Amino acid sequence: SVKGIYGKRIAWYENSMTEELESETKTLLEVQRALANREFVLYWQPQCSTRTGRIVGLEALVRWQHPRRGLVMPGSFVPVLERNGFIASLDLYVWDEACRQLRAWIDRGEQPVPVSVNISRADLYAIDVVSTFEELLQRYGLDHHLLELEITESAYAEDERMTTTVERLKEHGFTILMDDFGSGYSSLNMLKDVNVDILKIDMGFLNRANESKRSESILEAVVSMARLMDLRIIAEGTETKEQVDFLQSIGCDYAQGYYFYRPMSTETLEALLTQEGVVDLRGVLSPTMEL
Ligand code: C2E
Ligand code: MG
Ligand code: MG
Ligand code: MG
Repeated sequence: SVKGIYGKRIAWYENSMTEELESETKTLLEVQRALANREFVLYWQPQCSTRTGRIVGLEALVRWQHPRRGLVMPGSFVPVLERNGFIASLDLYVWDEACRQLRAWIDRGEQPVPVSVNISRADLYAIDVVSTFEELLQRYGLDHHLLELEITESAYAEDERMTTTVERLKEHGFTILMDDFGSGYSSLNMLKDVNVDILKIDMGFLNRANESKRSESILEAVVSMARLMDLRIIAEGTETKEQVDFLQSIGCDYAQGYYFYRPMSTETLEALLTQEGVVDLRGVLSPTMEL
């Protein structure tokens, strides 16, 4: 009967919702266990000069070194944690690890480049990020210019709290990056309200520029506008030589992407950094850095 079929559908729908909830709950429990076990590790992706290819900064990206599943990418657990408000416990761990690593490099006599970490909007509702970062810098004896903060574009939308927090972070001397710029709809308008230092152009921008002259012009216009506003730009998802040449030609000084380096483990990064001439401290992203 019709009713029978209908009833089955409802049953199926409820089942799949329950399964989803169960798997989210499972993820949350697993994450708590994994945090205690220190299963989360940082990978590092260099930010490079488009002119010289040299490293001017590093983005810290979290990975889950799962005992059975191997290396798990953030795409499969960060959104779950964001939805449930647990992302702050992971981010606290990641930010601490990033600072601890910076301290270790300095103690070994290495000249460190700035490291950028990601902040989720949900972090603001769980912790006071300003005092958290201040405490971290104090604990590890680091200068503000060594830690840069990436906040995804959509996190600013319709959220006073984010704008206010950015203002406070800026007052404390932190460098703020707007991540995934151009991925939303209100990108340009947002720039008048949010006082960021660096725009990270979403990789979709670069992909579209490959496809049409018009999209190329838009990217070029964004770079000019950024210059007028005294903003620096990093193009994300730079994968080819052609893209690097194009970025250079429109005056985009920095890029991050597979063309230069994929995100890598601490061990791989350290081996890379011992090579002569891969790091450019003069072209370093933070103008305040003292050499
Ligand atoms: P994101 O912050 O925009 O990071 C850039 C992402 O693009 C990274 O993915 C990176 O591996 C990838 N990528 C870099 N270059 C290329 C390229 O040339 N081509 C392509 N196709 N992709 C490239 P990943 O590491 O999987 O991270 C995904 C997202 O997860 C990040 O996007 C960020 O939003 C979030 N995330 C990562 N680590 C953390 C963290 O510690 N805390 C929080 N809250 N979010 C994080
Ligand atoms: Mg980022
Ligand atoms: Mg992002
Ligand atoms: Mg991004």
